[in-house]
Amino acid sequence: MGGSFAPFARSPREHSDEPLPGFKLAYPMVAADGRSCGFSGVTLGRAHVYRAVDDALCAHGSRHACPSRWCDCGFYCFHDIGAARDLACEPDHRSAVLLEVFASGRYRRYERGLRYARQRVGAVRIGRCECGRPAELLADSGAGTVGWRKLLPVCGHCAADRPTLTPQRFGELAGVAQVLQDGTAGAPAPPQQPVAPTATTEDPGTVALLSAEVAVLHARLDEALARLDALQSKLDGR
Ligand SMILES: [Zn+2]
Ligand SMILES: [Zn+2]
Repeated sequence: MGGSFAPFARSPREHSDEPLPGFKLAYPMVAADGRSCGFSGVTLGRAHVYRAVDDALCAHGSRHACPSRWCDCGFYCFHDIGAARDLACEPDHRSAVLLEVFASGRYRRYERGLRYARQRVGAVRIGRCECGRPAELLADSGAGTVGWRKLLPVCGHCAADRPTLTPQRFGELAGVAQVLQDGTAGAPAPPQQPVAPTATTEDPGTVALLSAEVAVLHARLDEALARLDALQSKLDGR
């Protein structure tokens, strides 16, 4: 047997014709002509807009099939809706929406999720406005990419007189049957008795939340290191 990375090194290339459910964050987008809607990634592939049913393209412009072992491109999702909700709490992701997706085609499995070739968006969950109220509308955010405006989930107060789409209209233009208003999910609990601070500063729960997506990326690095490790063992063994 090889070194400690052996379990990663044997990870097979996988393929599924059966859709595999998952959860992820995305920015809602509307086309410049206002006639269709789509999504853009919150990390890798921010500049690319994908449709409700779409195939992954290499985010770095390579022409290889996604997901490639040697590249980080492809669609990503978490197995657990909680992991996506946790990520949505980060300031950078507060304006994202949560997608319920179905992955198919070639895929690679990681501890917390999948990286895969083909995706269908089954439902969109709209969270909160930046002011903390449940978001009711999708407003023009003022940001965007070529041909697409980025939308921002807002409440009725904050929408003011900005151009907006209702969740239902967004669903029609995106081709997604379900657009749910999810803004009350995980609302802050009522104030409780103060809890005495404990000596430990490293809360495993908090660390897990902050590193949710990073964990998926690191799993790939481990995989690459495992290959190098195996190669090194082979050379040493000669
Ligand atoms: Zn690639
Ligand atoms: Zn608001």
